[in-house]
Amino acid sequence: MAKIQMKTPLVEMDGDEMTRVIWKMIKDILILPYVDLKSEYYDLGLEYRNETNDRVTIDSAEATKKYGVAVKCATITPNAARMTEYNLKEMWKSPNGTIRAILDGTVFRAPILVKGITPYIPTWTKPITIARHAYGDIYKNSEMQVDAGSKCELVCTDANGKETRQTIHNFTKSGGIIQGVHNVDSSIASFARSCFNYALDTHQDVWFSSKDTISKKYDHHFKDIFAEIYENEYKARFEEAGIEYFYTLIDDAVARVIRSEGGYIWACKNYDGDVMSDMVATAYGSLAMMTSVLVSPDGVYEYEAAHGTVQRHYYKYLKGETTSTNSVATIFAWTGALRKRGEMDGLTDLVEFADKLESATIATIEDGVMTGDLAMISKLENKQKVDTETFLREVAKRLA
Ligand code: NAP
Ligand code: MG
Repeated sequence: MAKIQMKTPLVEMDGDEMTRVIWKMIKDILILPYVDLKSEYYDLGLEYRNETNDRVTIDSAEATKKYGVAVKCATITPNAARMTEYNLKEMWKSPNGTIRAILDGTVFRAPILVKGITPYIPTWTKPITIARHAYGDIYKNSEMQVDAGSKCELVCTDANGKETRQTIHNFTKSGGIIQGVHNVDSSIASFARSCFNYALDTHQDVWFSSKDTISKKYDHHFKDIFAEIYENEYKARFEEAGIEYFYTLIDDAVARVIRSEGGYIWACKNYDGDVMSDMVATAYGSLAMMTSVLVSPDGVYEYEAAHGTVQRHYYKYLKGETTSTNSVATIFAWTGALRKRGEMDGLTDLVEFADKLESATIATIEDGVMTGDLAMISKLENKQKVDTETFLREVAKRLA
């Protein structure tokens, strides 16, 4: 059978540990037999990042900007232990952070649903996609612990040297704590545009929430920027597509989310997104079934799995033991990227291939063949726990 041809290369970012092992297996077993894969390969494995002084991460992000679509394997974010393990020259920054900063993107996380694995919230029959604003607020804060007797003020000096002051608190009787946070209009605007573009792309409503009733300037400003961009740039397209944007107070959003059936994008401020994405991921059953895509405001896409490099399984693998590592989110990173590449280049057969590979993956699990993490939580009667490679071969059978 003739392989599916591609036009524009896909940016391929390889990674670390168990996910690097899975990466190659997915390509060999599920992709290369069917697709004449055109990719521009970047090795983001920690060894090569160290060798290139992390230049390779920057190059891969630049290539993503150029071509428009990337697929990324999970990578190690170095800490003290990794410094010795890999004999690193420096504690290189998180590749995801570097790529996100270059693409100015927003991360969208959505669960993959399969029969047999029921969310803790039984009404959630469709995925809830969380969009987290990944800049500023408490993540770029400046904070102090202050003694009793301190007077704390917020001081802003404008471009002409004019000062504006506001009292935060007079710590007359007791000491305490203070914190300064900020955000910038351009980042909030990029966040809004990424959310609206992704909504049009995936045909889902957008909910945005903050605490504007309490934070009348800070959170209200987020609400205003979203409203203005929606009115001026997206309203007509949303109406045409039959999808909706609405803003609501975070408290109300939480209540609505729990009552909902899913199937929308929930745009969250940085902290809300950090916390809610963990809650939503857990409620859907498994971190290994969570996909993640970084979308830039100008329509560049980078797909990956939400989980890490599964270090514990990798050490077992190195000792020659069989592992049962879930490859589903990494498979979906590939299908997401191939489908997007196909859509951008007008390649229907590539889009169809991505659909078929996703269906084959889900069918395998729904037939009762799954890795250990899912076997533990699946309610199917005749389930069978298989190892990492057997799972991929079972998907390949159904794909063929
Ligand atoms: P992790 O790789 O997500 O794994 C944590 C645990 O979750 C695993 O030990 C495993 O539990 C379970 N798990 C996660 N993914 C799984 C899968 N696909 N199949 C089966 N089980 C899975 O997180 P970590 O161990 O904290 O981090 C390891 C490395 O990944 C770190 O160096 C970190 O920097 C990096 N990381 C990278 C990314 C990224 O590139 N996007 C994200 C997060 C972390 P059991 O051991 O109980 O089986
Ligand atoms: Mg979190």
